[in-house]
Amino acid sequence: MGKSLHGFARRVASSAALGFLWHNRRFRRLGTGPCRIGAMSLAMKIDLHSHTYFSDGLLSPAELVERAVGQKVDVLAITDHDTVLGLAPAQQAITEAQLPIQLISGVEISTSWHEFEIHIVGLGIDANDPVFLQRLATQQQRRIERAQEMARRLTKHQVPDCFEDVLALAHGGAITRTHFARHLVNIGKANSLSGVFKHYLARGKAGYVPNNWIGLSDAIAWIHDAGGIAVLAHPLKYKLNGKWLTRLMQEFSLAKGNAAEVASPQQTPVQKREIWRLCQQFSLVASVGSDFHQPTAWNELGRGLYMTDDIVPVWQAYPQLIVQPESASAVSSHTVG
Ligand SMILES: [Zn+2]
Ligand SMILES: [Zn+2]
Repeated sequence: MGKSLHGFARRVASSAALGFLWHNRRFRRLGTGPCRIGAMSLAMKIDLHSHTYFSDGLLSPAELVERAVGQKVDVLAITDHDTVLGLAPAQQAITEAQLPIQLISGVEISTSWHEFEIHIVGLGIDANDPVFLQRLATQQQRRIERAQEMARRLTKHQVPDCFEDVLALAHGGAITRTHFARHLVNIGKANSLSGVFKHYLARGKAGYVPNNWIGLSDAIAWIHDAGGIAVLAHPLKYKLNGKWLTRLMQEFSLAKGNAAEVASPQQTPVQKREIWRLCQQFSLVASVGSDFHQPTAWNELGRGLYMTDDIVPVWQAYPQLIVQPESASAVSSHTVG
């Protein structure tokens, strides 16, 4: 099996090198468990974490995939916060313009874990699964209620009621604190997004409303039930000390999480090694993601996501995640199982 898959991987790689068009390939549902295979080197640019304006990104789904193609990204996951609204228009843009990029259906679910807000990315989810959509709707409702409360509290601090404005900034998708920050900058209450967080939205400030997200294990179960794999997003962004980070990785693994983001744009090689060490300790594989929200000098789709050869990437442990070209699919369908 390993040999067949290895051959299959080489076929995929060579097809990609020849500029094989990936569009219109239907994503196949993932298997149930990790399938470790031999060394697989796909010469592809893969970015498994990005946002559109259906959550707190600034680009439309079409603009995002076009930008990814411009950056020579071969495989892109769109992972908006608690919503899958960006996926269909992104796929439509890819199909219509025959863009040479594969879209992976993703989502990023906010969870509460010991007073921390922890994000879990789901990759390869079935974005039409009615149970999953209904579950995401409950998170959306929590977001709306929190946003209404934030708007209410801010009105007591010389900010005119802004719920509708903030809702519009989210394009009917997931309202986040970043939308409040953008709105407050737009109306001149602060010069920068970080300034808004510091003066209005941080814990203890006027617009702060505690989170009420689902638990870590619930998010993992939602993702698995929708056929996806669960990835701990940006483990170093939560500013946990070593003890808490280890505990997070351990509990994520015990709750049947599958992978953690080892490569993010701002992570140093030393930090990547540290996360990968924890992944190995708790039987997780490695994902990569820019967490791109908007064009900036310090972040770009597909940039800075390099991992060394000894790290086991999520697409190697779960080869179904990346769709093979049709010619390879026909040959490998009985070997991949
Ligand atoms: Zn996140
Ligand atoms: Zn994100």
